[in-house]
Amino acid sequence: MSYQVLARKWRPRKFAELVGQEHVVRALTNALDSGRMHHAYLFTGTRGVGKTTIARIFAKSLNCERGESADPCGECSVCTAVDAGRFVDLLEIDAASNTGVDDVREVIENAQYAPARGRFKVYLVDEVHMLSKPAFNALLKTLEEPPPHVKFLLATTDPQKLPVTVLSRCLRFNLKRLLPDQIAGQMRHILGAEHIEYEDAAIGELARAADGSLRDGLSLLDQAIAYGGGSLKADDVRAMLGSVERGQVFGVLDALAAGDGQALMAESTRIASFSPDFGSVLDDLAAALHRIQLIQLVPGYRPENHDGDDSALISLAERLAPEDVQLYYQIATTGRRDLSFAPDARTGFDMALLRMLAFRPSDGATPAASGGQRSAPSPQRSAPATPSAPAAAPVQQARPAPVPSHATPALATHAPAPAATPRVADAGGMPDWEALIQRADLRGPLGQLAQNSALRGREGNTLVLALQPTHMHLAVEPMVSQIADRLSEVMGEQIRLRFIGDSQGAAHTPAARAASARSAAQSAAEASIEGDPLVQALKREFGARVVPQSIKPFES
Ligand SMILES: [Zn+2]
Repeated sequence: MSYQVLARKWRPRKFAELVGQEHVVRALTNALDSGRMHHAYLFTGTRGVGKTTIARIFAKSLNCERGESADPCGECSVCTAVDAGRFVDLLEIDAASNTGVDDVREVIENAQYAPARGRFKVYLVDEVHMLSKPAFNALLKTLEEPPPHVKFLLATTDPQKLPVTVLSRCLRFNLKRLLPDQIAGQMRHILGAEHIEYEDAAIGELARAADGSLRDGLSLLDQAIAYGGGSLKADDVRAMLGSVERGQVFGVLDALAAGDGQALMAESTRIASFSPDFGSVLDDLAAALHRIQLIQLVPGYRPENHDGDDSALISLAERLAPEDVQLYYQIATTGRRDLSFAPDARTGFDMALLRMLAFRPSDGATPAASGGQRSAPSPQRSAPATPSAPAAAPVQQARPAPVPSHATPALATHAPAPAATPRVADAGGMPDWEALIQRADLRGPLGQLAQNSALRGREGNTLVLALQPTHMHLAVEPMVSQIADRLSEVMGEQIRLRFIGDSQGAAHTPAARAASARSAAQSAAEASIEGDPLVQALKREFGARVVPQSIKPFES
């Protein structure tokens, strides 16, 4: 007995057997039952979601010998011919493989002739946007004045490429990608009917790998059955798919929550020992982060039971800061995209993990600080539980609310606030020049001169101030006396000033310090903007550019 592939063997023969696409089925069923059929339908959507299947059921519904209905008999000669793919009045054209071939145009032009066996000719044109120009013109012409015995089912993965003249003449349906649960449900149904034993985790792996396409899912299932010698084991399926167990990525997240670089790399090594597809490991990581974020931000959200990993997710949701989860997610997806640029996949994977460890906007002004190794999580976070300890299922309210100040990544830098009461003199009797200037309230030209001077020493009541030689002309009367008077007042003794030209000594004036603090604050603000994930995303996705002069640090 020859083996028939599952996707073909289990192709639905009735609308009721179709998995997903309920909205399309309902519209078509209503139209068929009421006899009010449109002459052209456009199905958009990815591959393997049921376009051909729907077209075949539709052709049977229109042509079944027992009458037109949404529930064809499946037994008459028309129904069996359609199911076997040899019904003459169902014309399947795959434009993707037939572009430029002239007889497609001829086939479409033949629409004007009456059907050979049935009541309706049904045209299924897949990837209609790829028709050759003559074929497309023939289609347009037929659509403009459709013969009553013709129904068009057009399908495309790229509706943008269709001219509005076609779009406006079709009733349009978007076929959805199937959910993993829908695919898994159909797999279980088939395996049960085929008496094939399976582990449920294996089904989960296959359903996720199917990526929304039941057809792809079933052909993976075929492969897995062959690989496992007639049974389905999760380990076999993972080996076949190059995936790792879902729970594996929790170890990575545990290490990140603890800020433990060593544990993180140990996890990476452990995962690498399975020779996985690192891209899908990053996908798994992103999927886990998605669910963690839902637990954190959507009250009442409960993770669906996937292999019983809820408690691990809930525990991680408590230990990771919500904005870190956002960031990790972004790094995971970007890391996946950039894997092909990495020297090798493992390196790309490691770097993505290390980036998560090193790169945290919540740590303030140094988002990409060098040596981002952290031995302990930041103090705002609750202390991490021992990763191996099973977390008790906590109640929703017990979860610590995110600390508000922690929740906003610092975008700009605050200059250190000045001390409330400036300390004027240190223990050795040398006054703190900067504090003196503040207390003496030296402003304007007096302030300028003082700010640009550095205190070099004290000789009795005389303060020796260094000034850049090029600035010596500023140290003139009456300004020098006025400064001395003010200083005498705040210091409570008669002060005299002596200025010396000294380029070395004048390097550390209050003005120079303020300038370098400003430039440090500016650099930090610029780095913070550049490092901001949103800004990076804008630059990456939209080619945005930051105008450096437009960045201003917060003034305190
Ligand atoms: Zn029939």
